[in-house]
Amino acid sequence: MMKKKEIHVIGVLCGMFFAVCLLNLFGISLGFETDETARNAGETTTVKDVGDALACVNSSIEKEAPKIALTFDDGPSSQCTGRLLDGLRKRGVRATFFLIGKNAKANPDLVKRLDEEGHLIGNHTYNHVEITRLSDEEAKRELMDTDDVICSITGKHVEYMRPPFGVWQDELEKELDVMPVLWSIDPLDWTTKNVSEIVNKVVTEAGENDIILLHDCYDSSVDAALRIVDILKKRGFEFVTADELIMD
Ligand SMILES: [Zn+2]
Repeated sequence: MMKKKEIHVIGVLCGMFFAVCLLNLFGISLGFETDETARNAGETTTVKDVGDALACVNSSIEKEAPKIALTFDDGPSSQCTGRLLDGLRKRGVRATFFLIGKNAKANPDLVKRLDEEGHLIGNHTYNHVEITRLSDEEAKRELMDTDDVICSITGKHVEYMRPPFGVWQDELEKELDVMPVLWSIDPLDWTTKNVSEIVNKVVTEAGENDIILLHDCYDSSVDAALRIVDILKKRGFEFVTADELIMD
């Protein structure tokens, strides 16, 4: 049985811990390490311990890796996507792939593999068309046909889409319950075969929560993507799928 006094002391300590937590939340430092507080015995030691524990928690929060997402449009490609998947698997990295419906239909094994290896699959229309140039009915058909193909292979409906050319129509978002995902870094990988140029553009711009746009239908883009992963991993980035950034 605890004595009343002990219960009182525990109560006081809990109260102090709560107060320190609150102050920490507001970014207020108590200056535990000053000579003045060190001279106060007993009570100060307890507060210092709490402070140390909180500092430890805070530093582990600060150390959380910055997140970044690789996204690939226009696949799957029978020529390039398999090699990209091998490279990503070797590096333990998951990415996001916005598939063109007719390419998905032609490469069901790659679609299956994308899903099985934990990548996020998105919709990039059936024929790679600019949505706003179509009638509402045609636009819906482009997205629904792509979803049908992917869903028949993976068993899952596609929740995210990337509009070709970045042009989107808000009305469709509500009607089809699909979320558009744009990008923040575009190295224009389709305009060059120079791998270093693509890599440099991306790694010089890369920051926390960036979404990188590449295309998995060019060998140069696959080479660049894997080098980008190696460089940014060394810098401490954690690669996540696009939905993880959007939901944050
Ligand atoms: Zn595209």
